[in-house]
Order: sequence, then structure tokens, then C-alpha cells
Amino acid sequence: MHLPINKTPLIIKDFSGKLNQGNHPGIDIIPHDSFYKNNMDKRTKSVQNAKRMVTKILAVSNGKIVYAGNTNIGGLCVALDTIINKQRVRFLYCRLGRIYVKKNQTVEAGQLLARLGDFPDNNLHLHFSVIKNPPNKISQCFNSNGLLDPKIFYKNLTQENGHSILLNKNKGAVNV
Ligand SMILES: [Zn+2]
Repeated sequence: MHLPINKTPLIIKDFSGKLNQGNHPGIDIIPHDSFYKNNMDKRTKSVQNAKRMVTKILAVSNGKIVYAGNTNIGGLCVALDTIINKQRVRFLYCRLGRIYVKKNQTVEAGQLLARLGDFPDNNLHLHFSVIKNPPNKISQCFNSNGLLDPKIFYKNLTQENGHSILLNKNKGAVNV
């Protein structure tokens, strides 16, 4: 696989802390070439949606899938756990369409996890959270105390030929 460097990160909404304080516990990400513009007609918008739905969501790190399924808050989600500096860190991918991995499966950084999916209440996007020492229950991950700012991993979010991917080139070698 060709891995480009120094491409524009795919961030549209920044991390701001905890859900139970009315903030946003992660970042929302879309492919760079699929923004909605003002006065965009329905047809063009559906083209943008199509670009989003073929978006490949890749593992940011080597690790193990600890959840792959539906949640009340985030729709279809995948949780990928890894160990960084002897601490468990969870990467949570939400609002997915198709999921290509199963619980207890081991994955490698860069492996295809899922594609973006439809979600009824707003723009198609990936919700991405990073949680240190995560709780066992997936529903508790959304207001966990261990939320890390995904900007730690920000530099590792890259995209390839307009088809966005999430990839940690350091394969988890970051300080948390
Ligand atoms: Zn979000």
C-alpha cells in the first residue's frame, strides 16, 4: 500500500472534553473533498455523500478489536484496543456503515476496519475518540474520564488520493 505523508488532516470538529458537559468527546472527520457548501444542490450533495460512504476507515494502530456493533449513541462502532507505554488505549470509531472486523480479532495498523455510513441526524462523518484505561462497557466510553485529545494522533491522520484513511504511521509509538 502506498502511504503518503504530510497530507491535510481530515478534521472538521475539534476535541473538547466530555459528553456529559455538553461538549464533544472526540473529533468528527470527513474526507477533505466532500464538504457541503452553501446552496449546494441536492444532486451535488448526494455526490459528496457518496464520496464519504466509500471512505476507508483504517486501524490507527496494531491491536485487538474489543467491540464491533451497534450502540445507542454512536450507531455502528468499532473499538480497537492497544497497549501504549504499558497502558491500555482504546480507539473508538463511530457512525460507521459497513464493518469488516469482528470482536476479538487482531488487526494491524493500516488494516481496513470499516466504511462510513449513514446516520439519521446530521452530516455523514466518522466520530473518533481515544480513551486511556477505557471502561469495559462500550456505552461508558462516551463519557469516560480517560478521554485523550485525538490531536496526539492528529499528525498521523492522512489521506490517500482523495480517499481518506486513518492511519498511524508510528504504529502506536506515541506518549499518552
Ligand atoms: Zn462526534
